[in-house]
Amino acid sequence: MTGLATGLRGVLGDRTAKVLAAALDLHTVGDLMRHYPRRYAERGQLTDLADLRVGDHVTVLAEVEHAAPRSMRNRRGSMLEVTVTDGRKKLSLTWFNQPWRERELRVRRQALFSGKVGEFRGKLQLANPEYQLLDAAEGDSAEAAAASFAGTLIPVYPATEKLPSWKVAQCVRVALDVLDEVDDPLPAQMRLRHGLRGLADAFRGIHRPDSTEDMVASRHRLKWDEAFVLQALLAQRRQANRAAPARPRARRPGGLVDAFDAAMPFTLTAGQRDVAAAIDRDLAEAHPMHRLLQGEVGSGKTVVALRAMLAVVDSGGQAVLMAPTEVLAQQHARNIRDLLGPLGMAGELGAAELATRVVLLTGSTGAAARRAALADIGSGAAGIVIGTHALLEPDVAFADLALVVVDEQHRFGVEQRDVLRSKSEVPPHVLVMTATPIPRTVAMTVYGDLETSTLVELPRGRAPIETHVVPVAERPQWLERAWERVRTEAALGHQAFVVCPRIGGDASDDVAAPALDDEPERRPPLAVEDVFPLLRDGELAALRVEMLHGRLRPDDKDSVMRRFGRGDVDVIVATTVIEVGVDVPNATAMVVLDADRFGISQLHQLRGRVGRGSAPAVCLLVTEMPAGSPARERVDAVAATSDGFELARLDLERRREGDVLGTSQAGRRSRLRLLELLRDEDLIRTARAEAAELVDADPALTAHPALVAAIAAAVDEERAEFLEKG
Ligand code: ADP
Ligand code: MG
Repeated sequence: MTGLATGLRGVLGDRTAKVLAAALDLHTVGDLMRHYPRRYAERGQLTDLADLRVGDHVTVLAEVEHAAPRSMRNRRGSMLEVTVTDGRKKLSLTWFNQPWRERELRVRRQALFSGKVGEFRGKLQLANPEYQLLDAAEGDSAEAAAASFAGTLIPVYPATEKLPSWKVAQCVRVALDVLDEVDDPLPAQMRLRHGLRGLADAFRGIHRPDSTEDMVASRHRLKWDEAFVLQALLAQRRQANRAAPARPRARRPGGLVDAFDAAMPFTLTAGQRDVAAAIDRDLAEAHPMHRLLQGEVGSGKTVVALRAMLAVVDSGGQAVLMAPTEVLAQQHARNIRDLLGPLGMAGELGAAELATRVVLLTGSTGAAARRAALADIGSGAAGIVIGTHALLEPDVAFADLALVVVDEQHRFGVEQRDVLRSKSEVPPHVLVMTATPIPRTVAMTVYGDLETSTLVELPRGRAPIETHVVPVAERPQWLERAWERVRTEAALGHQAFVVCPRIGGDASDDVAAPALDDEPERRPPLAVEDVFPLLRDGELAALRVEMLHGRLRPDDKDSVMRRFGRGDVDVIVATTVIEVGVDVPNATAMVVLDADRFGISQLHQLRGRVGRGSAPAVCLLVTEMPAGSPARERVDAVAATSDGFELARLDLERRREGDVLGTSQAGRRSRLRLLELLRDEDLIRTARAEAAELVDADPALTAHPALVAAIAAAVDEERAEFLEKG
C-alpha cells in the first residue's frame, strides 16, 4: 500500500529521496503530491525570452535555431554553442566538452532548458544548462527518450539548481503510478454538492493534466482542500470556545470604568461606544470572549481596550497587555499610566481610592524590578500588567488572569496566545488589537476563530495627512525641499521622523521589506547609521537630531522616545521600530527614504505615526525608482489614498499571501499554496459555511476521520513553526 504518508525513500530510492528532502523539504508522497507546478508550459507556446534577467534561475521552453561545435583557441577541449529562440529573441547556450549533445539538439527541436542566466559579450546565455527534450527522437540518449514529455501541458515546478523541473516531474510520475486510492478529507456528500473530483484524481490532474480543463478542475478541487480544512479547524476552535467555561466579568457600577469615563478628557466616538458595548456584553458571558479589534492607527483602540481592562479589574481579576516590541510596551505603560492618572497609582502618594497598579515587565526589566513585578502580578496587586514576550516565561504567575489583550496580533501566533491563556485556571477573555486593516476574507481565514469589530472613524480634531512622492531621479532638487519642510515644521515647534529601511553595518541586515522578485539588483538600502550623521551635521544641523533603531540598548531607545515625547528632540532618524503604535501628537512631518523598499501596508503604518495631533501633517516618500516601475507604483499608491483597507487589498494583490500574513500564519511551506485570499472569496465563504454546518452537527468530526487527520496535520505544522520560532 502506498499512501500519502508513505516515505519517499521506499518509492523513489535513497538517493532521490535525499535530494528531494534537502532541496525542497519534501519527505512523504503527500509532500510531493502537494508540491504543485508553479505554471505550465504549453507545447508550441515558447517562453518569452525578452523577460529573462541576468542572475535569474530559469526554465524556458524554446526551439533550437542553430548548433555549432567549436574548438577553443586558448584551451584544450571543445565547446558546443547552441542558439535557441522563442521566435523573436535569442538565447545562447554553451557546453564544454560534451560534443555528443549536438546529436540531440538538432535545429527545430523544442525543449525545456534550465539554468542561470548569464551574460557574455552583451548576449544573454545559459552556461551548461540542463535540458529536457519534448519529444523523443532517434539519436536521443535512452535517458532523454524515456523522460521526454507527451502531454500538451508541461508542468514547471518551483525547482532549484540541483533539481531541475523535469526531474521533479519524473518523481511525481513515479509516485502517482504507485499511489493507491487515498483517503479524501472532503466529505463525499459535499464534493457531490459542489462538483468536486476525488483527491487522487485531482493530484493526477494538477501534475499531469490531459487538458487545460482537467488542470483547472483539479486545481479548484485542491483549493477546496486548503480552504475547507482550515475552516473546519477554525469552526472547531469556535465551537470549543463556545463550550469552554469562563468567569463572567460583568461591569460593576461605581467602579474603575465609571471613574475613568468621568475623568476622560474627551467623549468616546460612536464607533468606540459600539465596540465598548460589544466588549461589555462579551465579558458578561460565561464563555471566553475572542474578539479582534481593528482600526487605523489613532482610531482609539487603546482607550477601548483600557476600559475592558478596567472592567475586569473591577470584577476582581487582572488584565495583561502584550506588545510586540520593547518600545511599544514601554509606550503603552506610559500612555496607560497617563490616561489613568490617580486611578492607576495604587500604593503611591495621591492614588485614588479605587486605584489599581500598572506593572511593566519586559526582557530588559532589571532583576530587582522584575522580582517586585512578579510579586505584584502573583498577589493580584497589579490589576494591569503590560509587557512583551517576557510575560510568557513560566515564572510569571497571575493571581486571577481575566483578560488578555494582544496588541498587533500579526506578530503573535495562536500558540503564544495559548501560553498566556494557560496562565489562568479558567480560560481568560481575549481581545486582539490590530492597526493593519485586514480584508474580510483574510480576517475569515487568518482570524477565523475571532469575532471582528472595526473602528472606522478617527476621533475628531485630527488633521489629514498630505502625502507626496519625492522622485529624486526626475526631480533631484525636491529632496532639498523635503529637508526645508522639516526645518519649517521644527521652526513651528513641531517634530519629525526620518525613516530608513536599514540600520547599518552589514548590508544584508534588517532590510525593511523582503526583496520582491520583480526587482533587479540595486544598491543596498539607505541605513540609519549613515543617514543620521549626514543630517545631523548637514541639512538638519540646526536641529536636535537623534537616532532610533532595534540594535540600541533598551534604555537608550526608551530615553530617545521619552525625550522626543517631551519635545526635547526635533527629529528622530529611525528604522521601522517606529512603525507600530508610537504616539507623539506633535510630530507633523515624516520623510521616508528609499520608500520603494517598504511594502504598501508598511508605508501606510509608518505614515500613521504623524498627523496624530491637530496640526496638519505631511509625509514625504523619497524614491529613486522611475515612474511606471513596479516599485514606484507601490509608493504612488500610498500617496494616492489614505484608505487603509484599499491599500491592504492592493498589497495583497501584489504579494504572495505568505509574505502578507507572515510565516506564522501562512505556514513555513505555506498551507495556502493555491488559495488566493482575494480572488477566491466565494470559495472561502462557501467552505466556511459548509465547515460550520459540519462541525455544528458533529463537533468531533467522528464521521470524517480523513478530515480529522488533515486538521491534525495543519495544527502540527502550526506547532512546528511555533517551536522553530522559539
Ligand atoms: P490606537 O490605539 O487605535 O492607535 P489610541 O487609543 O492610542 O489609538 O488613540 C490615539 C489618540 O487619540 C490618543 O492620544 C487618545 O488619547 C486619543 N483619543 C482616543 N479616543 C479619542 C476620542 N474619542 N476623542 C478624542 N481623542 C481620542
Ligand atoms: Mg495604539
